[in-house]
Amino acid sequence: MTSDLDASAFDGRIVLPGDADWEDARVGRVFNGRRPGRQPDAVLVAESVEDVQRGVRLAAAKGWTVAVRSGGHSWAAWSVRDGGLLIDLRALTDLAYDEDSHVVSAGPATKGGEVLSPYLEERGRFFHGGHCPTVGIGGFLLQGGQGWNQRGWGWAAESVVAVDVVTADGELVRADAHHNSDLYWAARGAGPAFPGIVVRFHLATRPLFGALAHTVHGYELDDFTEVMTWLYDTHHRVPDNVEIVAVSMPVPVPDGGERRLFLVTGLAFGDDEAHARDSLAAFNTSPALDRAVFVQDAAPSTLAQQREEQLRNNPEHWQYICDNAWIDGENTPAGVAAMVDGIRPLFTTNPTAHGFAIWMSNAPRRELEDMAFSLHTDAYVAAYTVYEDPAEYARNRAWVDEVFAHAEPVTAGQYLGDSDMTNRQLRFMAPDNWSKLQEIIAARDPEGRFHRHLAADPDTINVNHWQREEARA
Ligand SMILES: Cc1cc2nc3c(=O)[nH]c(=O)nc-3n(C[C@H](O)[C@H](O)[C@H](O)COP(=O)(O)OP(=O)(O)OC[C@H]3O[C@@H](n4cnc5c(N)ncnc54)[C@H](O)[C@@H]3O)c2cc1C
Repeated sequence: MTSDLDASAFDGRIVLPGDADWEDARVGRVFNGRRPGRQPDAVLVAESVEDVQRGVRLAAAKGWTVAVRSGGHSWAAWSVRDGGLLIDLRALTDLAYDEDSHVVSAGPATKGGEVLSPYLEERGRFFHGGHCPTVGIGGFLLQGGQGWNQRGWGWAAESVVAVDVVTADGELVRADAHHNSDLYWAARGAGPAFPGIVVRFHLATRPLFGALAHTVHGYELDDFTEVMTWLYDTHHRVPDNVEIVAVSMPVPVPDGGERRLFLVTGLAFGDDEAHARDSLAAFNTSPALDRAVFVQDAAPSTLAQQREEQLRNNPEHWQYICDNAWIDGENTPAGVAAMVDGIRPLFTTNPTAHGFAIWMSNAPRRELEDMAFSLHTDAYVAAYTVYEDPAEYARNRAWVDEVFAHAEPVTAGQYLGDSDMTNRQLRFMAPDNWSKLQEIIAARDPEGRFHRHLAADPDTINVNHWQREEARA
């Protein structure tokens, strides 16, 4: 390192452009192999909370803006910004569990499935972290957190009881319902616009369930409309201990080989095996059951198996393009037909061999706590192209854009977790919550020390792009 920066001031390391490990420090921990060219001025690989405080103070002295990386799983690589200091929190992974309160404290770079979940399982507890086990809890919780059985247990951020935050002036504060409650409110949904750095989360845990059972039906893509229409009619009635996901993906088929099917899945978190199995009964009412390519009915499963499956389906460092939408138009028969038609191309036309699409039930929709996260509907969809050759970018980008344009008439907004606002901007928060967040940001970070949402049009963030002109007027 050649600069006026005092390396000995940190427990960790400052890495600068030109250093041998610059590229690794800049993007090495970004999950998506589609790396951005954006160049920070420096990366601080923090070793301690004090390092994070020193980093924020250094940035203030230098006039730098600060970006943050916890687990590196932002699809759009939000941690990599042009200019300023990237603070990499990779070392902040310590865990502590309090037997009396059942609260677990975890560093923001903790991997929710790979590390936190087994740690809690040993103690007979569970936290519904992200599905892919390597997702960091930092970015995941800040944007809401669509964890295991979110339809029944709520957004993962609703289980945050407190956060420890390094503020824009480098102070360390605790934020909960009674202290610094503005930061506590914002930490549950502000996503990349959070005006601070969370260095520790305090999370309410739940008792570990007794048994898991997994139903999977594999249908031909031609059956999509009939099966999806039935699922819209049925998902409200399935008990809320069942996660309901429909997926388009390539799978091994009984007659050999592998091909893309439309899978309808129910994962029941039961008190015991019988409870888990009984919770899945509604899946057997599918009108296309006799035409299914295969049916796995309430097979016993484990969290370890589920995590392995997620890792297999999400290979690290491949190229991903994804987008998503909250789908609306329920409660009328025409609405269901429009929704099924609107999302059909996501599931039936993916141009990449490993690409996939998901439909996730969020019904019956629950009232949310008062927190920044504030937009969801009864069902969520996301589609992903997954490929290795960067030359495929243009074709795959065109497909993602086209299928989500087709879904626009039934789109209410989107979830930050699968979004990329450099490509497409949609609403992700209720307007009043968005206004309140702007006030909190203005009060907590008046000099703009922290980067905010990475968006092509910063003036119309949280606006559906087809309503942009209206919003400007
Ligand atoms: C394979 C895969 C599977 C996924 N599955 C799910 C899923 O099941 N459910 C779901 O909801 N999402 C899922 N996601 C999306 C994922 O939750 C988000 O991308 C999330 O931001 C990842 O958190 P991270 O800490 O790993 O990411 P990072 O890239 O490290 O962080 C993203 C951004 O969040 C902000 N941030 C992160 N940590 C902090 C902090 N400590 N303080 C302040 N700001 C911070 C920063 O702006 C940062 O740039 C998945 C993503 C991938 C790649």
